[in-house]
Amino acid sequence: MAKSSIEWTEETWNPVTGCDRISPGCDNCYALTLSKRLKAMGAEKYQNDGNPVTSGPGFAVTVHPKALYQPLTWRTPRTVFVNSMSDLFHAKVPLDFIQKVVEVIAATPQHTYQVLTKRARRARLLADQIDWPPNLWLGVSVESKGLLHRVDELRRVPAAVRFLSCEPLLGPLDGINLDGIGWVIAGGESGHGYRPMHVDWARGIRDACKHAEVPFFFKQWGGRTPKALGRELDGEIWDEYPATVAS
Ligand code: SF4
Repeated sequence: MAKSSIEWTEETWNPVTGCDRISPGCDNCYALTLSKRLKAMGAEKYQNDGNPVTSGPGFAVTVHPKALYQPLTWRTPRTVFVNSMSDLFHAKVPLDFIQKVVEVIAATPQHTYQVLTKRARRARLLADQIDWPPNLWLGVSVESKGLLHRVDELRRVPAAVRFLSCEPLLGPLDGINLDGIGWVIAGGESGHGYRPMHVDWARGIRDACKHAEVPFFFKQWGGRTPKALGRELDGEIWDEYPATVAS
């Protein structure tokens, strides 16, 4: 758990760490790179090595029962990004552990939790075995048109807020259907070897949000550093949030 530098959240909580690459958006996974560094520094949660092809040093999927109850100690209400260093719906995270994570979320209604997954299908398949509390938002990553099926899976999950993270945006999402979606975040890739985002891809998502009256958050253009090219789109900062939170 740590204060987050991610623009659209306040805190991170990692009851699970580690993952495997699953789609092109994972190519420059920051969690994978960071895990390697944390392992070298001796950090307890990052000592298990994952598959050398799909994962990496310190990045094997590992559950941390000791980290489960951290949110119970936070008095001040906050927005919490769950598993910034993993994917809660990875096939190697047992259902009963997912259920425990959700129980902690339900037991701390003063906080708002954001779970972001690329395993939309597993989330949907397990949905009826999870009691979805009102303070749990579920999002899926959609980096290119070929992954829009994740949005269809998400629509079938009864989370209080369903959101999309279109980041790193790698292509246009023409024809995106935002029915049942409560929030969209978009952004370009940053760091060494970043893949540039075309302005029309960002405009297309913004316009789809405007048309569907869905709040839109434009995080960054990306570049060599996250802030290199700023976050204005057509001269405006897009900082919209679902109506359940004050922006
Ligand atoms: S799903 Fe997320 S955490 Fe897992 S490898 Fe891809 S980008 Fe990294």
